[in-house]
Amino acid sequence: MKSSTKILLLGAGLAAIYMATRDLRKKQPTIFYVPNIPFGFNGICLPPFGIYIRMDQQGNDALVAHEMIHWQQYQRMGLVPYYYDYMKDYFIHGYDLHPMEQQARENETDYCRTNYTECVRDGRSNTAFNPKFRKP
Ligand SMILES: [Zn+2]
Repeated sequence: MKSSTKILLLGAGLAAIYMATRDLRKKQPTIFYVPNIPFGFNGICLPPFGIYIRMDQQGNDALVAHEMIHWQQYQRMGLVPYYYDYMKDYFIHGYDLHPMEQQARENETDYCRTNYTECVRDGRSNTAFNPKFRKP
């Protein structure tokens, strides 16, 4: 196969992925209630599948609001940039100072916005209280 044909096929493939995920992005997420999430997380946003909330957090609107902001980030950014930027910023800033996480902490005080792990563990967070948060 000629290299120009390969490039054309790659472009068509990427365009198809873009179109498919563009349609998915318009949808509201399904919220799944699950028994457990790794590392003591209370909720997690995994586009394009949906939002996962630990069962004992059912009815926690502040937590759903936090995950919904992540869903909106995905809708704005697109599927691949959402995960790529999240991982990139995670390696640069870590979890507590992660810009996408700080944006999702709209219900938190200024202190807890930048010291989220500590606040969730000791009960100062307005989103969730969980002494095992981010512990393996
Ligand atoms: Zn988050």
